[in-house]
Amino acid sequence: MESLAKTLRNLHQKSKSYQPMVARNISDNEIIEQAECCVQKFELAPDKSLTEMVQSEGGIVHIVGFDDFCILHDDDINILENSIYVHDIHQDAGANKFDIILSANCDSYEHRFILAHEIGHFILHRDKGRCYANRLKNSKNKTVEDEADLFAGSLLLPEKTFKDAYKSLDGNYGDLSLYFRVPWDIIARRVKRLRLGIK
Ligand SMILES: [Zn+2]
Repeated sequence: MESLAKTLRNLHQKSKSYQPMVARNISDNEIIEQAECCVQKFELAPDKSLTEMVQSEGGIVHIVGFDDFCILHDDDINILENSIYVHDIHQDAGANKFDIILSANCDSYEHRFILAHEIGHFILHRDKGRCYANRLKNSKNKTVEDEADLFAGSLLLPEKTFKDAYKSLDGNYGDLSLYFRVPWDIIARRVKRLRLGIK
């Protein structure tokens, strides 16, 4: 096993020749449909981790902290934090098709949503070539990030499951956050999107 520092250094080197992911510009319904297909395929549930899904798609998740980043220059840290690098997707089954980098500064609820977001990039935005997505670096390309966010919301908080939970938990954001194991603001965003709580 190569060390995390070595992996980071390699990814950072490679990233210079990778292309930023581009938005699909497909309808919201198509994105939601793709996410719900994944929920079925991987039998996802609020208490189930996303690790199995990532592994079976050929991905590796790295959680990196400040010490790991010490090998890089300050300016380069943003390039790697909370991002995805998709390599050759035509490799054999079992090969490393993509790497996801999560920041150790986030808590487990934030990790769950960011991981779902990065999986969204892999499902929606992977291309024939090598590509990457990073929220900070992609700030000019809001659509690609919005698409991944919609995918993540639909993957972790599928409409029917979410509406049922909202009803049984009396719309309490704190309880919903505990149940779905995502941050409070993600619950708020989902409530707004599904127009719940509007009398
Ligand atoms: Zn993103």
